[in-house]
Amino acid sequence: MLSELQTVSASLRAADEALALMAKMYPICRSITGEGVRRTLDLVEQVTPLERTEIPTGSAAFDWEIPREWNIRDAYIADLEGRRLVDFRQHNLHVVSYSVPVNRTMTLDELQPHLHSLPDQPDWIPYRTSYYNENWGFCLRHKDREALAAGPFRVVVDSDLAAGHLTYAESVVQGSTDGEAIVYTHTCHPSLANDNLTGIAVAAVLASALRHDRPRLTWRFIFGPGTIGSLAWLSRNEDRLQRLQAGLVLGLLGDAGPVTYKRSRRGDTLTDRAAAYVLAHDSHRGVLTDFEPYGYDERQFCSPGFDLPIGRITRSSNAGYPEYHTSADDLSLIKRESLAGSIRAVASVMSVIDVNRRVVNLSPKGEPQLGKRGLYGKVGGAGPRALEQALLWVLNLADGSQDLLAMAERSKIPLDLIEQAAHALENAALLKSMACGPGTSNQSLAINPKASTCRS
Ligand code: ZN
Repeated sequence: MLSELQTVSASLRAADEALALMAKMYPICRSITGEGVRRTLDLVEQVTPLERTEIPTGSAAFDWEIPREWNIRDAYIADLEGRRLVDFRQHNLHVVSYSVPVNRTMTLDELQPHLHSLPDQPDWIPYRTSYYNENWGFCLRHKDREALAAGPFRVVVDSDLAAGHLTYAESVVQGSTDGEAIVYTHTCHPSLANDNLTGIAVAAVLASALRHDRPRLTWRFIFGPGTIGSLAWLSRNEDRLQRLQAGLVLGLLGDAGPVTYKRSRRGDTLTDRAAAYVLAHDSHRGVLTDFEPYGYDERQFCSPGFDLPIGRITRSSNAGYPEYHTSADDLSLIKRESLAGSIRAVASVMSVIDVNRRVVNLSPKGEPQLGKRGLYGKVGGAGPRALEQALLWVLNLADGSQDLLAMAERSKIPLDLIEQAAHALENAALLKSMACGPGTSNQSLAINPKASTCRS
């Protein structure tokens, strides 16, 4: 359950489950398409059920096209005696992702334009891709590059770049209302741990935990490649977007940086308010940053034609830690406590989003008599007096214009107690939830001006 994941002990157990999944996913060579993605989803499916979508090469996704599918079996640079000097089988970062097939004998001078290394970090292999530009290359430790002789070398990339599919998957937890929320995490990086195995693993354990709840919103956890994956999903789900009340992009959740929430483009959506509410709490010591059109898939969700209520939770930002996009972003970089703290923070933000709703007082002329309904002096988790105050605040503010989160903020009463009071008042027929739930006044306006119309 999500509420459980907000405790330290349960979040540490969930972090262990996430770490075990990451260890299984780490060796797989993933890219934006191909068997590596499917094998990764097979592992995610051991944690939470998935519905998969395969989109054929050449299909349109707005201004983009689904690329050819890339698969790789082997790649190396060898001397003429057959000794492998750079070997894909040793580390899948050695090959530039989407490298076209190669089988040539070359001198070092001919090879140099195809080599990538980090002079400042001579022991680390860089991560490079060439998705939309037909090319090939090898990434290697700078110290190994410096040790290469003049050649000639056997240079082999045994890959396919052919018509196929782009694969994404969704784990859907059905809610009790027609509102929806999404969690998106990219699945396209090869053996890199913080970026992006932490995002995949945390999304998987959260989806699994939420399955034991009966959430208010339908939560859709989407596992897809960066950029082209979110574009592909958006292009096939435009009719669903008007029901979207909140959403998070997840990634980089296991390093030592503070939990960081990057606001949506609008900056005042339910997701932004929920994250601000949670991260203001001492136990998270979180950081809030403003939107910028750089980063992960929030770029697509927050493009002006969608302008969705979606923010991002990470720890260090992209390129915010030295190991980013290198072989040093391996499992040893991941801190169990950081991962557990991220799980607590994301579970808390999701919980706030899910319980929040707009409510209307059905007996607004004077205070309704609480005693005859058994609500006065009733003991709540925080004692009778605290619950009574929460009941009075909810009744007073429930004119239909405010949601529970706004009531918690104004009354300075914790949201869980406000929610408990609202629940008791609903059971006593003094309060009614509005069908579209909470959100901000201009939710999804870019897509459908009717989206913010609540039905009571
Ligand atoms: Zn990345």
